[in-house]
Amino acid sequence: MPSVHDLLAHQVATRPDALALEDVTGARLTYAQLSAAADEIAEVLNGKGIGPGDRVMIVSENCAAKVAALFAIWRLGAIAVPINARQTAAEIARVDAHAEPKAVFFTTQISPDAEKHSATAQKKVADIDTGTISGAYGTLSLHCPRGDSFPGDRDVAVLLYTTGTTGEPKGVMLTHANVRFGGKTSAELRGMHHNDLIYGVLPTTHVFGLCSVVVAAIHAGAPVRLVPRFVVADVFDALRDGITLFSAVPQMHALLMAHAKALGDTALGSKTLRYVSSGAAPLDPTWKREAEAFYGVAIQNGYGMTESTAGTAATRNQIGDPDTSVGPALPGIEIAIDEAVPGGEVLTRGPHVMKGYFRNPGETAKVLDDHGWLRTGDLGQIDAEGKLHILGRAKELIIHGGFNVFPPEVEAALNDHPGVVQAAVVGRSKDGDEEVLAFVQVPDGSVLTERELRDFVRDRLAGYKRPARYVLASHLPAAPTGKVLKHRLIETFADQLT
Ligand code: ATP
Ligand code: MG
Repeated sequence: MPSVHDLLAHQVATRPDALALEDVTGARLTYAQLSAAADEIAEVLNGKGIGPGDRVMIVSENCAAKVAALFAIWRLGAIAVPINARQTAAEIARVDAHAEPKAVFFTTQISPDAEKHSATAQKKVADIDTGTISGAYGTLSLHCPRGDSFPGDRDVAVLLYTTGTTGEPKGVMLTHANVRFGGKTSAELRGMHHNDLIYGVLPTTHVFGLCSVVVAAIHAGAPVRLVPRFVVADVFDALRDGITLFSAVPQMHALLMAHAKALGDTALGSKTLRYVSSGAAPLDPTWKREAEAFYGVAIQNGYGMTESTAGTAATRNQIGDPDTSVGPALPGIEIAIDEAVPGGEVLTRGPHVMKGYFRNPGETAKVLDDHGWLRTGDLGQIDAEGKLHILGRAKELIIHGGFNVFPPEVEAALNDHPGVVQAAVVGRSKDGDEEVLAFVQVPDGSVLTERELRDFVRDRLAGYKRPARYVLASHLPAAPTGKVLKHRLIETFADQLT
């Protein structure tokens, strides 16, 4: 039964000396070295009695050692629980209590946050870092069990916690089959090949960075440059340095464009960049237009969720295409709309659908039916060409004065203003109705006023869609990917909303 580890084994068998990963510590690992590093870590875990079905948490930021640890865990048939070191101690403790890992790794060398968490950890196995794993691998003997029946492709490979945009993060069980399918689909969609240099700035603690970037790259034999965090000026320069493929969340594209504008830089001018993608949140049409003009490459909009191993649908557009859809379903994947839900709920079925939520059969039953359909919680429509259009989340739909207000539409109107970095819109109950609240991120030192924004949206939005309240701030609460944590907005800015 193929496991995710077999993807690496395949590269070792065919191209052992090709570059697999590089990171900011200066580590450059071939497939053979990555595999040896994974074996070394597997040996440590095996020595601690960790085997099939056991959870191993990795408190990490992107680096080669983290990927080696993942493959070590998969080699043993254990379950990886990657969590971003930038989460708070309380958030990590919550995942720890829920997943009950037998061991915890920390990427201390690369991440001051991981180091901080490591200092207080109880169940620590080892700090992994490129210093440790680039030692002499050859002398280690391996005693890891390799039975015929494990890991089966229906066995769980990874427990990935959702972003927590709408509430507490949920632990999603993705199987070896899910992760392999997600990697293959993403690699084929992007035409990943040996000559690419993929920019890996999306956290590998989120499905997009883990499955659509890193596993996809290992599937295709394409090297990845791993970067621990999104620092706008660094990313800006790196994109001019031989990168061929760049995947990001929309907020990252927006921050890059704000940076380009501040520098008066109008074109990236890269001769190598060939594919740019956006996913995990709505792609604002203004951002898309501006970023495409800057990159000189079309931005492909991919739709998916942790529960669907990321990729569910994606565009295949030319530069400047005004398409606002998320494209048709990816090969082997079905999509449908449940019209019984007001607004139409998007359903999907196929090899990308999760096994379920870990230790939560009640929530699993709410979203997965007996025929394999996953309820996405997103509202959308499929057009005559089979393209999916996402209107917003069912949970976030605001009903104001009896009319439906879709936050992404209001956000798009505000994002159109040149002084806005990004807007996030949510509803709040008031006097038996819901009011529209706008949280607007503006650059430090901005002189933009609420009044100006009210005037700006007047001829862009019908009256019932216009925000009742505005909060202007230099930062919005965000996940490590950069996605805005909408359920935290009201509590974060409570003093400005009274
Ligand atoms: P939680 O489930 O914990 O509230 P989350 O849904 O944000 O958080 P993820 O799995 O990271 O967690 O995100 C999936 C969601 O992101 C989708 O359900 C959808 O609402 C949104 N999304 C993803 N891609 C797109 C896209 N291209 N356009 C619009 N929305 C998208
Ligand atoms: Mg979700």
